[in-house]
Amino acid sequence: MPKIAVLPGDGIGREIIPEALKVLQAALEDCPVKFEFDRYLIGGAAIDEVGKALPAETLDACKKADAVLLGAIGGPKWDTLPAKERPELGALLPIRKELGLYANIRPVKMIPSLISASTLREEVVKNVDMVVIRELTGGIYFGEKGRNENPKAAYDVLLYHEDEIRRIIELGFETARGRRKKLCSVDKANVLESSRFWREIAEEVAKEYPDVELMHMYVDNAAMQLVRYPEQFDVIVTENMFGDILTDLASMLGGSIGMLASASLSGKKGLYEPAHGSAPDIAGQNKANPLATILSAAMMLRYTFDLNEEADRIEQAVAKVLDQGCRTADLAKPGDKVLGTKEMGDAVVAAL
Ligand code: ATP
Ligand code: MG
Repeated sequence: MPKIAVLPGDGIGREIIPEALKVLQAALEDCPVKFEFDRYLIGGAAIDEVGKALPAETLDACKKADAVLLGAIGGPKWDTLPAKERPELGALLPIRKELGLYANIRPVKMIPSLISASTLREEVVKNVDMVVIRELTGGIYFGEKGRNENPKAAYDVLLYHEDEIRRIIELGFETARGRRKKLCSVDKANVLESSRFWREIAEEVAKEYPDVELMHMYVDNAAMQLVRYPEQFDVIVTENMFGDILTDLASMLGGSIGMLASASLSGKKGLYEPAHGSAPDIAGQNKANPLATILSAAMMLRYTFDLNEEADRIEQAVAKVLDQGCRTADLAKPGDKVLGTKEMGDAVVAAL
């Protein structure tokens, strides 16, 4: 039986995860495969309960599970703890590292009925439909770091191994193959040796995907193009730091932060979570938008379990409730009827 470790975590995580589970249950009703869902503690909730942000039992369960569904971690209550014991450094980074999650995937898609809520012009965002793939466990964030005393200086090394580049580029091609077959590899090959290496490997891998069109773009140009003409992009693949910056930029093209799903993968295994945090300002008030988590659950069905049809159905149900005018507070304009977290979850289940 496939296993899913469910980690509600803190703040609105405890409200949005039950909605995602409700939707999953409805979407999987007729599925012959039966799933085992088990809940574990993580983050501040785990600190309060057992004194540690990432209890051994949770880590162990996540290692054994096929997929992890995470709500959100952290909150002001635990911000006064020493850095290493805080929920983010004590749980989120270690769990990614322990599970070897090297690929972060963020689909950015403008849902037609949300165009008017966008902060950007309609003609710029109306056809946005892309996936940004960021390398997550290599590059400058993980390279050697240090300081020199005389003269005073500091350095971070940007290093990539061949296999690290190859596997993320391959995922880029595979993803593009399942979509509009356009892959844009983002680098800074006019300046960086690691980027020239990246580009060589991309060209090599491209030979195995003659059906996918590969183009290269410098990161500075990519940032400009994302804002100027985002609909040109189908799949973007890039290294860790460039991806960190570009995914945040791209996320604004898809409307509210409450809509953004993400997956962090190691092969088929994945951790799925909304791109937003625990939103302490609205926690416990039935106000949070559960759609990013519901869409993350759809990604789980697609990427870890190859249940594309079920994933499509969830995504279509989300688009449908938005078309019908269902809005949580973050999506609402003055005069809109506002739904709570639970009511939005119910609406998606009904649309299924
Ligand atoms: P983290 O450090 O965990 O990423 P953060 O401080 O960046 O957290 P979030 O928790 O993502 O911030 O919240 C940022 C703002 O967005 C808050 O005002 C919050 O209420 C709002 N927000 C975040 N997620 C949602 C959601 N699902 N629905 C509605 N509003 C949200
Ligand atoms: Mg944040």
